[in-house]
Amino acid sequence: MKKHNFSAGPCILPQEVFKEASQALLDYNDSGLSIIEISHRSKDFVDIMEEARSLALELLGLEGKGYKALFLQGGASTQFLMAAYNLLTSKAGYINTGSWSDKAIKEAKLFGKVVEIASSKDANYNYIPKGYEIPDSLDYVHCTSNNTIFGTQIKDFPASNSPLVCDMSSDIFSRQLDFSKFSLIYAGAQKNMGPAGTTLVVVKEDILGKINRQIPSMLDYQVHISKGSMFNTPPVFAVYVSMLTLRWLKQLGGIPAIEELNEKKAKLIYSEIDLNPLFKGFAANEDRSTMNATFTLVNEDLKETFDTMWKEAGINGVNGHRSVGGYRASMYNAMTMESVAALVDVMGDLERKA
Ligand SMILES: *Cc1c(COP(=O)(O)O)cnc(C)c1O
Repeated sequence: MKKHNFSAGPCILPQEVFKEASQALLDYNDSGLSIIEISHRSKDFVDIMEEARSLALELLGLEGKGYKALFLQGGASTQFLMAAYNLLTSKAGYINTGSWSDKAIKEAKLFGKVVEIASSKDANYNYIPKGYEIPDSLDYVHCTSNNTIFGTQIKDFPASNSPLVCDMSSDIFSRQLDFSKFSLIYAGAQKNMGPAGTTLVVVKEDILGKINRQIPSMLDYQVHISKGSMFNTPPVFAVYVSMLTLRWLKQLGGIPAIEELNEKKAKLIYSEIDLNPLFKGFAANEDRSTMNATFTLVNEDLKETFDTMWKEAGINGVNGHRSVGGYRASMYNAMTMESVAALVDVMGDLERKA
């Protein structure tokens, strides 16, 4: 039986996508060939790459606005350094809202000066800093839109004259934003877009080419742009499945439609966390993520009972990250209301039982 999969990443994808992808693995479009045994230069694959790139821009509302979409390798973790390699000449500002921001800061320091504009490290990142001042003349300002581990999400993005760079790995395509405020967006596929192995990069071309250092080809956005994201062999299967997921999202009505569903799912789980006296939310209420809900048991003695109950209900992947403890329900785009309701039911059953 299919599980209710709350895994934080790699994570749930739409069933339709799994079905179509598994068929393509055996025989792509009745060609007698698997999608992973054909040349990445073949028309079949070039079409897939082009559709994936254009769907990404279309869904984000960035077509014709000077942006390019790339499907690269190396995960969001490579973007931590690639962004700095391509953009950091003297000084960049970083908002530190979690372990992933912290890691991005560490890499950027290899390339120039990093100012930590704001941080919520003092409270184990359970909130999003607000009311901070952004210094002038920064090469860019970097933020993490959704903090996968801690369950916080930026609602108001930093207003700055410097280009805004954002790690959107765990909430890309999940909510409506004015994406044209960002000059560089990156996201590892495995949270909300596809399987692990590719990273979406959306970059405004006019911010590139302004630094003096030599950039190795594989780490140079301009090289990947000039080659149509095919400088070397791309991760063909990961790009294909990401494209199918973007197609699925478009058919559903795009970001506005999925945002509505994501808000309903979040409301369902957070109201249970707030109303059920056995549970306590981790993130500050106003900063709660619609993607990852983090919560703990008020009484740890109930852990064994609760863990047995959710496992019996066919639920997977709700254990919290070790740096927060407790539980984390990741409710990415492909998660249904029914799955969230299944978890909420178990939480309610625990209350009735305890
Ligand atoms: C998972 C995650 C990363 C790391 O992604 P990799 O693709 O594993 O390098 C970075 N940032 C955020 C916000 C994440 O959720």
